[in-house]
Amino acid sequence: MVRALITLCLTICALATPVVAETKANTLFGAKADGSNQPPHAIGTYAKGCGAGLVQLPETGPTWQAMRLSRNRNWGHPEMISFLERLSAQAATQPGWKGLYIGDISQPRGGPMVSGHQSHQIGLDADIWMLPPKRLNLSRKDRENLSSISVRSKDQTAVNGNFTAAHIEIIKAAALDPAVDRIFVTPPVKIEMCKTATRKDKKWLQKVRPLYGHHYHFHVRLKCPDGSRLCQTQKPTVAELSKNGDGCDETLNWWVTDYLNPPKVAAPAKPAKPAPKKRGARDYTMDDLPKQCAKVLAAQ
Ligand SMILES: [Zn+2]
Repeated sequence: MVRALITLCLTICALATPVVAETKANTLFGAKADGSNQPPHAIGTYAKGCGAGLVQLPETGPTWQAMRLSRNRNWGHPEMISFLERLSAQAATQPGWKGLYIGDISQPRGGPMVSGHQSHQIGLDADIWMLPPKRLNLSRKDRENLSSISVRSKDQTAVNGNFTAAHIEIIKAAALDPAVDRIFVTPPVKIEMCKTATRKDKKWLQKVRPLYGHHYHFHVRLKCPDGSRLCQTQKPTVAELSKNGDGCDETLNWWVTDYLNPPKVAAPAKPAKPAPKKRGARDYTMDDLPKQCAKVLAAQ
């Protein structure tokens, strides 16, 4: 009798709790066409969070155009939108630059994305094209088809002829902006900037950080804005990094030496156990994000 009951329960219980694969956070955030009607707030970290009250960068402005409009990733914290307006006005003073072509910022409510970036989740990251804008009247279609240019040599150790003094001035202007936390560039760009830097450039130069990729665009990351209590700044902070100087050192050189050609090490005697697969932004469910992100998703 007891056994029969247990069997019955096992059957019913199994039926009553169907296994439902939990929807990924990137699917939920990727489906939102508009920002949330909430006060602006960057929530969580650059690579694990979301954005309340994000606003859309106008597709075309006096000194910029947003690119790849079909992605609907021209949304950012209002601080980011003002920063892009400021920087593009400065860029427009450079010879041959009408302003800036702006790549991905964030989705309308931030969050993880179905393709591309690990970061760009809280409305405080923006990719800016290395291509100098010759015109600011590109059509929607042009903006899907036009490509940026690479400023890196084929062997990845230096900049190429596409990189100019104007690029340096624009990246420097971004680094000098008090709202900016750090800027990611291909390592050869930082090497080039170190060559021309003087003592007084030390302070802002640490904000320019070498990173793989980033030769078709540079990536600007803003500090957590005042009032965004739930926004967590990146560690180590640039202030902490600056204790070791401006970053024009061996750690920079590593990117164009050992990083590209890792020194050979003796093979381990036993094959090492494969490391468990690291979970990335595309694996996150809502449980991985700060709990306030559920409210951002549900808001009007
Ligand atoms: Zn980026």
